[in-house]
Amino acid sequence: MDAVIFDITRNSFVDGPGIRTTVFFKGCNLRCAWCHNPESQNPNPQMMFYKDKCKGCGMCKAKCPNHLESCTLCGICEMYCMADARKICGKTYTVEEVLKEVLKDKSFYEHSGGGVTFSGGECMLQTSFLVEILKACKDAGLHTAVDTAGHVSWDKFEQVLSFTDLFLYDVKSMNSRVHKEYVGVGNELILENLSKLLDEGAKVWIRMPVIGGVNDSEEEILALKEFLGKQKTIPEKIELLPYHAMGEHKYSALDMEKKEFSVPSKEKMEYFNQLLQ
Ligand code: SF4
Ligand code: SF4
Repeated sequence: MDAVIFDITRNSFVDGPGIRTTVFFKGCNLRCAWCHNPESQNPNPQMMFYKDKCKGCGMCKAKCPNHLESCTLCGICEMYCMADARKICGKTYTVEEVLKEVLKDKSFYEHSGGGVTFSGGECMLQTSFLVEILKACKDAGLHTAVDTAGHVSWDKFEQVLSFTDLFLYDVKSMNSRVHKEYVGVGNELILENLSKLLDEGAKVWIRMPVIGGVNDSEEEILALKEFLGKQKTIPEKIELLPYHAMGEHKYSALDMEKKEFSVPSKEKMEYFNQLLQ
């Protein structure tokens, strides 16, 4: 069994407790207008061309079997480009290969209370692989976290629940109309699954990106607070994450257009955090 993964990052401090290795699955069923990992959206490997790095030497065209007119992802241009301007994003991994990578930092996890986080894209879309790698990590004694946007059928959560120590759960907007406008789908399934997860007593950290002009309003924060107040259990943590304009170079490398948003002020973020107390 294998999965398409576009990155494995070691020494992360932001994807759960302690020092973590984060495994990024390729493929996402949402299209957040502010996405800073646009390479995560397509489920298949892709060629990325960083124009700003290119020295114009022409080696890629000379060596490409198709003279760059079409791409079979053979990797020859990447191998010959000395400027690192051409990169294939996404590679197929087996469960054993991923486990081998994450076990490299086992001693760091043990000393810091860390572990492994599966993220994306939407890692829950490659469910069978995710279940197998979570089981393998638990058998190896690792703390496991699943970072999800929650727009999947509940049966997928049921499959991973017993092997997941923590869910990092993204809530983008409490207003379904706004959610649909900026993310591509309404928020009903996402909130329903969050409610069920909390009913099950799962450990959950909620993460809400705060995007200027989209969801940076008192109403949004109070709606989140009201929703959580009605649940059987409360999440262990709620993180409000201010928008940052990262990832622009990746949009251009994929020939995609990036939308701009404003960054909420420090004062506004502090106020929103107070509202959640
Ligand atoms: S090999 Fe690299 S540096 Fe040379 S033209 Fe191609 S992309 Fe540009
Ligand atoms: S990956 Fe292979 S087919 Fe694709 S552009 Fe590079 S050399 Fe050509």
